Amino acid sequence: MTSPDRELQTALDTRRVKNLYRQRKILQSPQGAQVQVDGRTCIGFSSNDYLGLANHPALIAAFKDASDEYGVGSGASHLVSGHSVIHQTLEEELAEFTGRPRALLFSTGYMANVGTVRALTDGGDLVAQDQLNHASLLDGGFLSRAEFQRYPHLDLAALDLLLSSTQCNRKLLATDGVFSMDGDLADVPALADIADRHHAWLMVDDAHGFGVLGKNGRGIAEHFGMNAEQLPILIGTLGKAFGAFGAFVAGSEALIETLIQFGRTYIYTTALPPAVAAATRVALQLVDSESWRREKLRELIGRFQAGARQLDIPVLKSITPIQPVLIGNDEQVMKISEYLLGKGFWTGAIRPPTVPHGSARLRITINAEHEELDIDRLLDTLSAALHEYRQARAYP
Ligand SMILES: *Cc1c(COP(=O)(O)O)cnc(C)c1O
Repeated sequence: MTSPDRELQTALDTRRVKNLYRQRKILQSPQGAQVQVDGRTCIGFSSNDYLGLANHPALIAAFKDASDEYGVGSGASHLVSGHSVIHQTLEEELAEFTGRPRALLFSTGYMANVGTVRALTDGGDLVAQDQLNHASLLDGGFLSRAEFQRYPHLDLAALDLLLSSTQCNRKLLATDGVFSMDGDLADVPALADIADRHHAWLMVDDAHGFGVLGKNGRGIAEHFGMNAEQLPILIGTLGKAFGAFGAFVAGSEALIETLIQFGRTYIYTTALPPAVAAATRVALQLVDSESWRREKLRELIGRFQAGARQLDIPVLKSITPIQPVLIGNDEQVMKISEYLLGKGFWTGAIRPPTVPHGSARLRITINAEHEELDIDRLLDTLSAALHEYRQARAYP
């Protein structure tokens, strides 16, 4: 028998030598401000549970009740026999939440993006995307039969040129609303104008905006005051601010029916456990009834940005819970994040290929369960870490 191991090990060794090897840490507690990781108690600054709902007692209770009533597995895909009354109700509530005629549940955001891009385009069409879009949108472009083009991050002029110079039939313009590794926003109103001018369809992945952006947590559409006509194809995920799991597409009747008929990642996969849908329904209510979470989060974000500036910490400008601190060097970012972990702060160390070469960073995420003191202590420790590890750096 030919073993794959030797060849695989060579590639693994190369990755390790380049300081790009990835390893999982083991979480031994629920998500929250304070977490237990690899046997150590620390303040968690690396989850996407922005509103602190993943361990909310009301979500847990709904999850338990629904599994008592409906069991654990959904048993089949939505089109076969797995579409339960809880899924149906959640879809109706998501449509109302987003102000769209319909919403369709997907098992993950990854699948929502891949399936939607592929279902909406064919040979002879064009998919245009921001270069820093989430991997799942990019993979949607690669898997589609359409021509796939990326434009430089936020470069509206390049996009305009790209759309002007194409002979393709359909044009699908897809962008993250909030960019997941940079925390910055797409200029969605400007993108809507460009899409309109070139008869392109605009698709926005608001994975990090829902629950967080806008006065009522309706995400990037509310942030920019945009309606369903300007923003016809909207993607949301349920595993981030909503504290649950899964994803949805919101839009018109025709869009949703198209995805039910032609969305391969919708059709050929098992429906979410009904209990997950039940917990998500509660999360939707909490986004309204516990608006203090969003307000507190906003204050903590402002505190972090201001403090970082004062301490000369190279944080990117961001009004979202994603607060990237640019380090540059892959080895240094690992050392800094290990130092922080040793002092009781768990942050994400993000390296290529997740981010472009030379732009390794700490991805610090803030959530509504944090306290001001957590932020202040993180900033002080981060400042000390940068002092210790950025002395000998060979780049600005
Ligand atoms: C997390 C994320 C996804 C994927 O969602 P999952 O439900 O985790 O698969 C898609 N798009 C963006 C921008 C994300 O950050």
